[in-house]
Amino acid sequence: RHVPADINVLLKAMRPLNMKGYIPHPRFCETMLALMNNALLPEDSKGLLIALRPVPGLKVRQALTLCHIRRFGDLVTLDDERMTLFLSSCRLNDLDVALRHIFPLPVDEVFSNRMVWYQDKQIIAEIHQMQQSRPPHWQEPDVADIHRSNDPAAGSGKRAPQVPYPITLLHARGRESA
Ligand code: C2E
Ligand code: C2E
Repeated sequence: RHVPADINVLLKAMRPLNMKGYIPHPRFCETMLALMNNALLPEDSKGLLIALRPVPGLKVRQALTLCHIRRFGDLVTLDDERMTLFLSSCRLNDLDVALRHIFPLPVDEVFSNRMVWYQDKQIIAEIHQMQQSRPPHWQEPDVADIHRSNDPAAGSGKRAPQVPYPITLLHARGRESA
């Protein structure tokens, strides 16, 4: 059926992120600012920005290999010390559910510290902070696993190959056996 061109433009503007997964730090920040300024998306309910600091001994790049993003619009980036996730349309109450879907290991065993922002102004302020504090010589990880949808306008639709990383498994904490 014929759909008027302006309806397509509107639909695209309302679902702006035809991508998911890892994106490099500068583009992550630009994408987030564009998203926060999209007047078609609900105010203060666009999603959650979460900063996660890995437990001592685990590098952020290693933590990235444990992060399996599934939903379109969910994004992740890294800097020297932390992983930053954006969970599209996720409510604050659902944060733990979403993190359980995304990480195969218990999140508290992988990350020792977490910060969450959910209001547009808070997210914008944190993104500005990220843009200012990023180390100038930070080398992006060689994992170009930006997943695009099959929308032909959004790219080839092909998945870039993922580069495997060695991971040191965490030692089990001193739990009592049943
Ligand atoms: P999507 O939103 O990009 O999600 C991709 C896949 O991530 C889903 O594949 C599912 O395996 C997982 N996923 C995403 N969000 C959730 C969630 O809140 N809970 C659970 N349990 N899994 C989630 P799936 O199920 O094959 O869906 C494919 C696409 O169909 C989704 O892409 C979405 O566009 C649409 N869809 C499916 N079910 C729903 C729904 O209940 N509500 C909405 N709004 N869209 C849905
Ligand atoms: P659920 O799987 O228990 O997820 C509850 C809520 O957690 C979701 O509410 C969403 O806000 C958040 N959430 C869960 N997984 C993800 C994720 O991978 N990414 C993000 N950004 N948020 C996530 P929502 O969207 O209202 O969905 C309500 C329920 O509808 C879900 O409960 C699930 O049962 C179903 N659902 C929604 N989307 C999908 C989908 O794409 N596929 C399937 N199979 N089920 C879906």
